[in-house]
This record gives sequence, structure tokens and C-alpha cells, in this order.
Amino acid sequence: MAKCMQCGRELTGDEIGLHKKMINRGATEFLCITCLAGFYHCEESLLEKKIEQFREQGCMLFAPKAP
Ligand SMILES: [Zn+2]
Repeated sequence: MAKCMQCGRELTGDEIGLHKKMINRGATEFLCITCLAGFYHCEESLLEKKIEQFREQGCMLFAPKAP
């Protein structure tokens, strides 16, 4: 499993998707949501909302929620 390039925490698929969507689609190293929030100087909860938005748009980078 991929790890955050900044803090070394294991990443979820959503975090990898968010990094690709917001920073670089071809990225091979990723930031976790906490470090990404630090990078953008925004709240983690804002990024969580973004993930939900992208998921609702049917973005392939985000796995559909299990029913
Ligand atoms: Zn991190």
C-alpha cells in the first residue's frame, strides 16, 4: 500500500485519488488528506467534502461507496 510522502502514513484509495485530482494525475507519490490540507492551508473536512463531490460526479479515481 502506498504511504504519504510527507508523514509516512498508509494511504486510502480516496487519498490517492484526491492527490491525483488536485495536484497531478500522473503522480507516483502522494500526500495523505492531513498533509494535503496543510499544503492547501485548508480544513481536512473541506477535502473530505471534495472527495464526496468527486465521487458523486462519478470520478473513476474514487471507488463508489459500498452500499
Ligand atoms: Zn501525510
